[in-house]
Amino acid sequence: MRLPQFRSADERIDWKGSFPFLAVQFLPLLAFVTGVTAKAVVLGVVLYLVRMFAITAGYHRYFAHRSYRLGRVPQAILAFVGLTAAQKGPLWWAANHRDHHRYADSPRDPHSPQKGFWWAHIGWILSSRYNATDFDAIEDFAKYPELRWMNKHDWVGPWALGVFSFLVAGWSGLIVGFFASTVLLWHATFTVNSVAHVWGKRRYGTGDTSRNSVTVALLTMGEGWHNNHHHYPASARQGFYWWELDMTYLGLRALKALRIARDLREPPATAKLARRIRSGHIDLGRFKLYLRRAQAAVPNDPDPRVAELLELLAQTEHRAAAVSRASRERVKAG
Ligand SMILES: [Zn+2]
Ligand SMILES: [Zn+2]
Repeated sequence: MRLPQFRSADERIDWKGSFPFLAVQFLPLLAFVTGVTAKAVVLGVVLYLVRMFAITAGYHRYFAHRSYRLGRVPQAILAFVGLTAAQKGPLWWAANHRDHHRYADSPRDPHSPQKGFWWAHIGWILSSRYNATDFDAIEDFAKYPELRWMNKHDWVGPWALGVFSFLVAGWSGLIVGFFASTVLLWHATFTVNSVAHVWGKRRYGTGDTSRNSVTVALLTMGEGWHNNHHHYPASARQGFYWWELDMTYLGLRALKALRIARDLREPPATAKLARRIRSGHIDLGRFKLYLRRAQAAVPNDPDPRVAELLELLAQTEHRAAAVSRASRERVKAG
């Protein structure tokens, strides 16, 4: 899967800087010392579900994609709960994720599996290349001082939750309730970037390698319908049909009923039927992947037609994106 020309020279793992993050992966083993109490297990399950929701409904569908609307206070609360998931700040997370969509599966995508499966899963986080927040990509939310503060002091969330877990359920609460659920939460979230771009079904011929994976959808409360999501990223709903279980969307519906969330966006019926591979649309993402693999297979004897084709496809996609941007702006202005 890994295409060598995809990773730039500064996309290297910073082992020394990543030591604390890597060490935390092993902390749940201390459960052999602290023991596993029922209270700690319940705490861990609750913290997994609540924080997964804050990441998928908050960091992802709200901050990165603005797929529904919130008042300023619920926005700050969702950002803070997201902070406790120890996935850095909301502005950092959402800015990187917007880059993922903008440059999906190109060398500028921070975590394309074409840079390697493990790179997409965890490597890119261990690289100092992506430490900084790209504020230009998230101007719309960076204007809120409370979000900038949380983004800068992102350690506050996990530390507060760690202390809370200890107070509620003792050492087992800290190790099992907090650390074990945090590590599971990390890897479940990471599968969206790794597994959901490698295994699963492609319904839509998107220009990337995104796939719909039931397993990832179950682990992440609905984020596994990732091909649907790349096809129509503005939607608050990622499971497009009743059989595509999307717990995050059901949670958002509940927040809507409570009048906390507003204007949940859904794909129009025409969009759900567009670009379907089964109805004959070209599978652009897979086609590009084959071309790149062909290029990588013979680096010393490249076929100029392959490069030409890739360039042509890039130009076409660029033009299509410009057209859809212009029509969106027309809708906004009118
Ligand atoms: Zn993706
Ligand atoms: Zn997304």
